[in-house]
Amino acid sequence: MLNSVSANLITVDDISFLYPADIRLEVLRADKIHPVISGNKWFKLRFYLDKAIQEKKQGLLTFGGTWSNHIVATAEACRLAGLKAIGLIRGEEPTHWSDALNDAKRAGMQFLFIPRSDYRKKHVPDNLGIDINQYLLVPEGGYGPEGAKGAGTMLSATIHDYTHYLCAMGTGAMTAGLINAIPASAELTAISVLKNNHDAENAIQQLLEDGNRQWRVLHEYHFGGYAKKTPELLRFMNQFYEQTAIPTDFVYTAKLFFAVNDLVTRKSFPPGSRLLVIHSGGLQGNRSLPKGTLNF
Ligand SMILES: *Cc1c(COP(=O)(O)O)cnc(C)c1O
Repeated sequence: MLNSVSANLITVDDISFLYPADIRLEVLRADKIHPVISGNKWFKLRFYLDKAIQEKKQGLLTFGGTWSNHIVATAEACRLAGLKAIGLIRGEEPTHWSDALNDAKRAGMQFLFIPRSDYRKKHVPDNLGIDINQYLLVPEGGYGPEGAKGAGTMLSATIHDYTHYLCAMGTGAMTAGLINAIPASAELTAISVLKNNHDAENAIQQLLEDGNRQWRVLHEYHFGGYAKKTPELLRFMNQFYEQTAIPTDFVYTAKLFFAVNDLVTRKSFPPGSRLLVIHSGGLQGNRSLPKGTLNF
């Protein structure tokens, strides 16, 4: 049943026409899998969902901020799987709920708002009024071996091998899963969307199955930090959409495509390279921007 969410809606779009260089550039459109469950988030959740069902849990319990793609995806994926979902949300309950929280609420998620100082410890309060053993605990962002393994299955929609794979990186779960799944001869480049993300390489390393894979994290495309943006980034999103009809989100994939554009323009990939850029979704987050900011 859950498989109906996924892979058959993914396309691989060729956008090589953007660059005269002798390279192929294709986009894995994981953003297309579902209108609510965004891109990589379903893939990262799929094995946690399986595990919860196998272990006869009532549902999933997880963590996130008020605009979290992971929270929305968890709520909706649990609804589809017939599981309950509890979201522990960073910070005081806002007076005006974000569209993301409203989506999750509509999907039946229960919420608990946690002061930022406590949230950091990712401690589940014992006064929740639920039997915590009935829930499978999913780390923030789905980070963990299950999350990485699920993210690796994003590539099952591709038929070709590529020489270079590129993705956006938050917790690193998707990055690690992809590194585990790509051909040994290929290289993966992850674009960190966080500033001063000194733990990035370690977070990936923790989830790798083979220490000999080729990969790197680029740290200079965060545009000020997580969920930060500049007029240049927003202009790029609109221009990229005009050229390719591919929408991006300002938190993750816009920074990724900006980096790809920059790297290709600076001829960082040898002639004959075949690039696959992972569009990991996240479009719902654009609803936090003022109306009219984007042309899509
Ligand atoms: C969460 C997310 C990521 C980052 O995935 P991690 O596994 O946390 O690194 C990338 N792109 C989008 C659109 C996301 O929502």
